[in-house]
Amino acid sequence: MTPLIALPPSPLRLRIDAAALAHNWAALNALSAPARAGAAVKADGYGLGTAHVVPVLARAGCRDWFVAHWGEAGAVLAHVPAAAIAVLHGPLTDADVAYARATGLRPVLNSLRQIARWIDGGGGVCHVMVDTGINRLGLALADLGDPLLARLDIDVCMSHLASADHDIAQNALQLARFTAVRGTVAARRYSLANSAGIALGPAWHGDLTRPGIALYGGVVRPELAGVVRQVGYPETAVLQVRDVAAGESIGYNATFVAPRAMRVGVVALGYADGYLRCWSNRGLLRWGDVRLPVLGRVSMDLTAVDVSQAPDVGEGDWLTVEYALPQAAAQSGLSQYELLTLLNRRFARAAG
Ligand SMILES: *Cc1c(COP(=O)(O)O)cnc(C)c1O
Repeated sequence: MTPLIALPPSPLRLRIDAAALAHNWAALNALSAPARAGAAVKADGYGLGTAHVVPVLARAGCRDWFVAHWGEAGAVLAHVPAAAIAVLHGPLTDADVAYARATGLRPVLNSLRQIARWIDGGGGVCHVMVDTGINRLGLALADLGDPLLARLDIDVCMSHLASADHDIAQNALQLARFTAVRGTVAARRYSLANSAGIALGPAWHGDLTRPGIALYGGVVRPELAGVVRQVGYPETAVLQVRDVAAGESIGYNATFVAPRAMRVGVVALGYADGYLRCWSNRGLLRWGDVRLPVLGRVSMDLTAVDVSQAPDVGEGDWLTVEYALPQAAAQSGLSQYELLTLLNRRFARAAG
């Protein structure tokens, strides 16, 4: 049954700072030069919403897009040409091959089996992933002499760094292996660096870089601090304000006991929204400049915050969740990637 009235607004919003997102792409593209930066937009644009991030990035100048699943490509395809979208998981079945050929999406071929499946299905321009040491997806170096490779029309030959966010010998090892790959696999373009790889320096850039997390405000290496700006701002409405007497406890299992009389705001945010229980007695919301610490356990749909210092806060007011990724990761123990991709569909996303 279709309701006859529009759904009222959600008490959860994820505000996307479009100017910061465009700035981040331009900054990463400039750092990548003379290579160009593409954009990893898998997992619904790292949780921010494909429909919100892709148009902003396209206007900023991005021309190459990376998703993981075939099912993610459609939302990107609504905004950019199919041939510009690479599907990282590659064709697992003949149905994937048929889908790629019908839509014009570009598969990333990760194994000799995927290459054979692509050629048998009719083939066409493709990308190839070579594993240089992460031991995740990609052709093994030992596979590169296989005659099947010579039958491909390869746009981007890529590999993926395992530890670019750390200064360890693996980065130079992967670069050396990739340099050898470039001499073996004929392709129009070569691509190695993710966000952190861009900060490693020009030797890692090839022709095309593939930033993801840094576009969305992740600071995965110190060089990116001051370059990358926060993009996602979770906001939640106050459902109720209550007075709690000294000695009363708040939330499940009474993990917080009020040391004094307090004014407590209860907001429409919980672990079902991706605001996990690690924020219990630890997270911070804001009302303008006023800091509102989380009190007690985060529950499924609700969280309590101390609004004693914000006497104006009342039902229906909007509070901002502290969610600068590097700081939030340090505080919560979650990775910057997890923090973003956790935020669920109850958030109304809007770019502005
Ligand atoms: C996710 C992904 C990226 C982007 O990585 P970030 O660390 O988010 O910049 C690039 N390349 C591949 C193959 C990926 O899977």
